[in-house]
Amino acid sequence: MSKPRLRFAPSPTGSPHVGNIRTAVFNYLYCRHTGGTFILRIEDTDRERYVEGSLEEIMLSLRWMGMDWDEGPEVGGDYGPYFQSQRLDIYARYAEELIERGRAYRCYCTKERLEELRKYQESNKLPLGYDRRCRDLSPEDRARLERENPEPVIRFAMKLEGTTEFDDVVRGHLVFDNALQDDFVIIKSDGYPTYNFANVIDDHLMEITHVIRGEEFISSTPKHVQMYEAFGWETPVWVSVPLILDEQRRKLSKRSDTQTRFVSYIEDGYLPEAMLNFLATMGWSSGEDKKIYTREELIEQFTLEGISTSAAVFDLARLNDLQGEHVRLLSVDDLANRLVPFLQAANYVGNPPTASEMDYLKRIVPLIQPRLVLLKDAPDMTLYFYRDDFDYEEKGARKYLVKDTTPGLLEAVAEKLESLQQWFCETIELAVREAGASLGMEGGQVIHPVRVAVTGRTFGPGLFELMDVLGKDRCTARLRRAAAWARDRLGTVEPQTSS
Ligand code: GLU
Repeated sequence: MSKPRLRFAPSPTGSPHVGNIRTAVFNYLYCRHTGGTFILRIEDTDRERYVEGSLEEIMLSLRWMGMDWDEGPEVGGDYGPYFQSQRLDIYARYAEELIERGRAYRCYCTKERLEELRKYQESNKLPLGYDRRCRDLSPEDRARLERENPEPVIRFAMKLEGTTEFDDVVRGHLVFDNALQDDFVIIKSDGYPTYNFANVIDDHLMEITHVIRGEEFISSTPKHVQMYEAFGWETPVWVSVPLILDEQRRKLSKRSDTQTRFVSYIEDGYLPEAMLNFLATMGWSSGEDKKIYTREELIEQFTLEGISTSAAVFDLARLNDLQGEHVRLLSVDDLANRLVPFLQAANYVGNPPTASEMDYLKRIVPLIQPRLVLLKDAPDMTLYFYRDDFDYEEKGARKYLVKDTTPGLLEAVAEKLESLQQWFCETIELAVREAGASLGMEGGQVIHPVRVAVTGRTFGPGLFELMDVLGKDRCTARLRRAAAWARDRLGTVEPQTSS
């Protein structure tokens, strides 16, 4: 059997949605699992809905996820062009062929007539749809109507009786009553094809073997199946992927609280590994009770049988959990490199960063890696590694700095540290504890004020590890700054007496 050929066929009608990218993920994984070909085809025939910039966002999102296409825009291929707007002559030719086969016809009905028809059907509670007036015109009527409307559309002549049936890998055998189907437009009066037509022509010409797409297209599939039959072409394997619901279990949409615009996840600093893991397991399961999948594992395990029949819920907490886990799986060097753009945006490192900036960053990374989730949070988490003029957290300062004993303690610690010959975690810890002990203080009584003094915060990585990275001069200067600040505040604020 020849290798599968799959396509992701977005319309550039807006910023890609997480649901669109999930569809791309399933196509991509199945391609890589089977050694098939992954094609990107741009369905840009709806000129009114075209949104500037959306094509770029689609390509950026796929590439960011590491889902490079084998054929399509910018890479080419033997089945191009891959933009439907560049294939209009092809659609025109096939529409003519359908007319010759008696399975399509020119329709001269004006907008006004169709509008009247709809109103009539609505007020008489009749099924809506085209009444097929132009389907069997006499040559005289046709000539007359053509004079009235020289820009007809072309409609597909659906079968009037019987059923249209097909098998969907996810949904099973589906049966549609032909009497309920409409003679839909395949070529609009401007010469552009509709989605339903161009999609089928291209899937056939591009030799697509599997159509994996959202289940909202199931109701269009009978139209597609009848077109394949009319041409005498073999249908692809249909795979309808269930919907994605938001956390309120409504269809995911722009109205949901959930952020639907895919590129916003890129901007927030999610990892492509985490996003791939998340999207792949939203509506698909390997059958194992397993949370973390690498790209290689997904490619190895992805099968169509694992696609669920029920809707998947977009669970942000699950995404964040996966994100944290994938952050922890990265090597220090890898995470450091990925943080660079976020730290550049905060002006912490240059563009490009110097070798010494990278060395410093690689010493910081192990300290933040255990708690980091979104990469965009890194500038805030690392602020005190890059800035000396930070403010003290209000609550922490009140509790630990504005105390009678604090200025003396911080000065004693600073002095002890200044005398150190060797600066590493163990020597720092010993010195801090000894300075505290000399004043009769121990444990948290010492650690907390020192932490607030050197980081401005009550919470963070191991104190001695971060002091090691900050270096002696910065630490002692900060201890003295905090001591002076505390003394100043003690003059004006009621001191805290409890320890
Ligand atoms: N252009 C359609 C979309 O944007 C493609 C649907 C399909 O895959 O057939 O969703």
